[in-house]
Amino acid sequence: MNRKVLVITEMKGAALRQVSLEGVSIGKKMAGSGTLIAAVFGSQASPHVEALGEHGADQVLLFPDALFDAYHSDIYYQAFVQAIQETNPDVIIAGHTANMKDVAPRIASRFGYGLVTDCTHVEFEGDEPVYVRPIYAGKAFEKKRFTSDTMFVTIRPNNFKAEPLRERATPEVIPCEAGSVDLRTVIRDIVLKSTGAIDLAEAKIVVSGGRGIKSKDGFQPLQELAAVIGGAVGASRGACDEGYCDYGLQIGQTGKVVTPDLYIACGISGAIQHVAGISNAKTIIAINKDPEAPIFQIADYGVVGDLFEIVPLLTEEFRKK
Ligand code: FAD
Repeated sequence: MNRKVLVITEMKGAALRQVSLEGVSIGKKMAGSGTLIAAVFGSQASPHVEALGEHGADQVLLFPDALFDAYHSDIYYQAFVQAIQETNPDVIIAGHTANMKDVAPRIASRFGYGLVTDCTHVEFEGDEPVYVRPIYAGKAFEKKRFTSDTMFVTIRPNNFKAEPLRERATPEVIPCEAGSVDLRTVIRDIVLKSTGAIDLAEAKIVVSGGRGIKSKDGFQPLQELAAVIGGAVGASRGACDEGYCDYGLQIGQTGKVVTPDLYIACGISGAIQHVAGISNAKTIIAINKDPEAPIFQIADYGVVGDLFEIVPLLTEEFRKK
């Protein structure tokens, strides 16, 4: 195997997104004895060059312009076109994130590439990669392979292991300038709604509340538990519809898809549309006072009881650790 692989990375503030390192790790496997190139963007990107090298990047395209600090479709599109023209890759990998969902189809269409989105697994038939992705809200999987020469894949966060390959690495850095872009829209304001909590899509632990939490204040014990175990807080649409929390926390078919190591569902019945967002969670714990709740059919561990008694007990126990 000898491929040229380009990984398009993303920043979240000053941090490199975990899914980007996951992309570099799987990209290295696809490159084989070929070249792995990572592209990084923004004024805070350069400190991450070494980590990219440690995970397998041979070269890094560094776009250090502050222009990339806020996502803008036209600016990123132009830079990705530039990165692709510069590298002429056989494989392009990006995270299956909101921004990449926006720009990836535009790129694929511009270059006439095939695009496989939301890939959770790659199998190899000999040298040929076969891409596995969930369909029908996670009830089935399809396997796809490319007929186009260049393969463009977006990967679901938390499904590939980010593995450092070497202790220190100094990949070749290729500085790139942002080209001039004729902006068709401009960002007027960015209104931050997040509290700076852990990103749901990349969280290793998620504590989620449903309609059973009964009020906005009902989220308090969940937030305490999440803080103690280093998790993010999520919600069912039931909780969002009731106005207990922001729709930004919604998990499920029409919300975010999460793939944590541990998902704790509190007062969530387990409707199919909710389960669609958690089907790849490694371990699911359900707390529900109804022993017949469907969530118990997919949970690895279940606690039948009142969440307002059980969640604080869990928090207390974890605090002792
Ligand atoms: P409920 O179904 O009302 O369940 C509440 C649960 O809390 C019950 O099981 C009850 O036993 C339990 N409970 C109550 N009090 C306590 C207590 N004190 N302690 C312990 N347990 C308690 N839903 C999503 O979540 N995400 C989606 O993305 C989504 N997309 C949808 C898309 C479409 C097109 C449609 C039609 C629906 C969608 N839904 C989605 C809605 C989904 O069908 C369910 O209505 C929703 O998931 C129910 O939320 P819930 O489990 O919080 O509420």
